[in-house]
Amino acid sequence: MKLTPKQLSELIQLAVQSRPDDTIGCDGCHELMEEFAQAELDGVEISDSLLVVQAHLAQCRCCRAEYKALIEGLREISH
Ligand SMILES: [Zn+2]
Repeated sequence: MKLTPKQLSELIQLAVQSRPDDTIGCDGCHELMEEFAQAELDGVEISDSLLVVQAHLAQCRCCRAEYKALIEGLREISH
């Protein structure tokens, strides 16, 4: 199936709409990931600015893998 640019933009629109919470993308996630990991390790309440990280991690497998590695690294430091 060949898509016209219009159909393509509609598809992208649909994809965006189905993920309304993921507003930061991978770059934004990387910037906030460490702060988010630290908050989680400290057991402090996740602020609104970090909730977007959580939303992104829920949807992005590669960031989730990085986050897991980061958490493990931070756990080792704190022990
Ligand atoms: Zn990502």
